[in-house]
Amino acid sequence: MPNTEIDSLERLGVTRYILRSSNELESRENPVSVVSMDDWQGLEREVVNCKKCSLCSNRTNAVFGVGDQSADLLLVGEAPGFYEDKQGKPFVGRAGVLLTLMLKSIGFTRDSVYIANVIKCRPENNRDPLPIEIESCTPYLMRQIELLAPKLILALGRYAAHFLLKKSSSLSSLRGELHNMPSSNIPMYVTYHPAYLLRNPKDKKESFQDLIRVKEFLS
Ligand code: URA
Ligand code: SF4
Repeated sequence: MPNTEIDSLERLGVTRYILRSSNELESRENPVSVVSMDDWQGLEREVVNCKKCSLCSNRTNAVFGVGDQSADLLLVGEAPGFYEDKQGKPFVGRAGVLLTLMLKSIGFTRDSVYIANVIKCRPENNRDPLPIEIESCTPYLMRQIELLAPKLILALGRYAAHFLLKKSSSLSSLRGELHNMPSSNIPMYVTYHPAYLLRNPKDKKESFQDLIRVKEFLS
C-alpha cells in the first residue's frame, strides 16, 4: 500500500496489522503498528518480548493485562508504575489496592473484569510516554479490546480517556456521560484515576457515583 494511503488510514485511527518475518521486523526503521497476534496467547507473547520502542530498555517486565478474557468490563489505566514493572501485572501498587476496593464496592473482583494499560512498559520515573512510544504500543491495547469485545470500558483517568475517546476535554467534563469509543463503538465511562484519588480523597465520592453507573449499565 502506498505510504500516503497508510498515513491517511492511520490518521483515521485504522490500525495496520502486518505479518512480517522477524528479520524484517528487526531491520525496519520505524516498526510502528507491526503486530502479529491472532489470539490472546500470541498477543501476550508479542507484548512480553516487544522491543518496538525504547521503553523496553529499562523495563523489568512488560505489563500485558490481567483478568477474565471474556469479561463484560474492561478497565484501562495509563502505564505501569514501579510495582507493576516489577511484578508484570497492572495496578498492584497503592493505586491498585484502591482500585481493588473500588471494584469491590460494586461487587466485582479483579478476576471478574479485565485490567490493562494504554502503555505496556514503565516509562522511567513515571514520565509521560512520548508520541512515538504511544504510536508503537497502542495497537496492543486496540487488539486486546478487539479480542475481549467488552460490553463496557471504564477509562481510569485523563490519559486513558483522551487516548480512547480521541478528545482532550477535561476529566470533569467527560465523567458522568456514557460515551462511545470512536473506532469500536463500545460504550465507555470515564472516572478518576485511583492514583489521583489517593492524592484527592475528597473526590472518592464522585468516583463511587461513576462506579454505580458502571454497575447499573452492566446489570
Ligand atoms: N497506574 C496505571 O495507570 N496503571 C497501572 O498499572 C498502575 C498505576
Ligand atoms: Fe513494546 Fe509497548 Fe513496551 Fe514499547 S512500551 S517496548 S511498544 S510493549
